[in-house]
Amino acid sequence: MTTHAFGAHAADQPLVAMAIQRRAPGPLDVQIDIAYCGVCHSDLHTVRSEWPGTLYPCVPGHEIVGHVSAVGDAVSGFNVGDVVGVGCLVDSCRHCASCEEGLEQYCTSGMVGTYNGRTTDAPGHTLGGYSQRIVVDQRFVLHVRHPQAQLAAVAPLLCAGITTYSPLRHWGAGPGKKVGIVGIGGLGHMGVKIAHAMGAHVVAFTTSEAKRHEIHQLGADDVVNSRDAAQMQAHVGSFDFILNTVAAPHVLDAYTALLKRDGTLCLVGAPAAPHPSPNVAELIFHRKAIAGSLIGGLPETQEMLDFCAQHGIVADIEMIAAHDIDAAYARMLNSDVKYRFVIDCATMGV
Ligand SMILES: [Zn+2]
Ligand SMILES: [Zn+2]
Repeated sequence: MTTHAFGAHAADQPLVAMAIQRRAPGPLDVQIDIAYCGVCHSDLHTVRSEWPGTLYPCVPGHEIVGHVSAVGDAVSGFNVGDVVGVGCLVDSCRHCASCEEGLEQYCTSGMVGTYNGRTTDAPGHTLGGYSQRIVVDQRFVLHVRHPQAQLAAVAPLLCAGITTYSPLRHWGAGPGKKVGIVGIGGLGHMGVKIAHAMGAHVVAFTTSEAKRHEIHQLGADDVVNSRDAAQMQAHVGSFDFILNTVAAPHVLDAYTALLKRDGTLCLVGAPAAPHPSPNVAELIFHRKAIAGSLIGGLPETQEMLDFCAQHGIVADIEMIAAHDIDAAYARMLNSDVKYRFVIDCATMGV
C-alpha cells in the first residue's frame, strides 16, 4: 500500500515528501500506523552519505512509536489498537548464537536495519520511520506501556534509550556504583536518567558550563566540566564505569584515568576518524578496559521500555513537523536541541 513518507533522493538533496510502498502484512507481520518518530544522528549521517553505502531513496527513522492497525493470521501478542514501538532493527538471521540469545543486534549475518537494510520489499532496501505506516515482523515489534500523553517522548527510547540502557545493565550500574556519563546530548541525557533510576551515583561530564543546572535536574548527582583540569583531577581513580557518548575523536586517557581498578570505559559514539591511541600502561597497571556497545536486542529493548515506563522515564524532546527536518538537522549539528527532535508523523502528506 502507498504510504506518505519524508526522505531524500540523493546525498546532496533536502528531505522531501514522497510516496513509498509498504508490503501487505504477512502471517507474522504487524502493521503499524506511526504517530511519532525520533530524529537520531545516524539518520543524518545516512541520508547525507556520511557513512558508506547509503541507498536512495533514503527514508531514515528508527525511533518509531505508533498504533497497530492490522496483524497477520499467525501473530500472537499484538492486537489492533496496541501501542507499539520499533527500534533500529527489523530483521536478523534468527538462528545464529547471538540471535538465539536475543542479541539480534550482534547477528553474525548482520542485522537488518530499520532503514537502509537489505529486504525483498520494494525498493530493495528498508525505509524507516519518517513515514506514516510500517509493516514489521512481530519479533521486532515492542510493547509500549507508557501513558498515551507521553508517546512522543517515548520514541527516542527506541535508539537513544536502549543504546545507553544496555551497557549500563551489562556493566552493572546500580546502588553502590559510581557511573560517569560523558556528553550530555540525545544519548547522554538518557544515560543520566536511566543510570540514576538504576540507583547508581551519577556524574555527568559536559563541556557546557551553562547546562550544569539542567543536568542536575536530569538526575546527575555531580556535574563535571571536562575542560576544567582541577574538576577532572578530583575524580581520578574513582569510577566503576563510564559511558562515553561523544562521537567526535578525542583523547580517551582523560577518562580511563578516572576509572578504578577493573573499571570500564564504554564507547557508544562511532568517530568518523579514530580516537588518538589510548595510553595502554594506564589500562595494564589497573586492569582497566575500553569497550564498545551497540543498541540492544529485542528482549532487552522490551525490558528497557518497561523499566522506563515503571520509573516514568521519557526523553526531553522538541516536536517538529515533517517539513522542519532539514532545519532540525542543522540545529543538531550546532548542538541546539534539548535533547531530541521528534517528528509528528501526522504532518506528512498534508
Ligand atoms: Zn539511532
Ligand atoms: Zn543472527
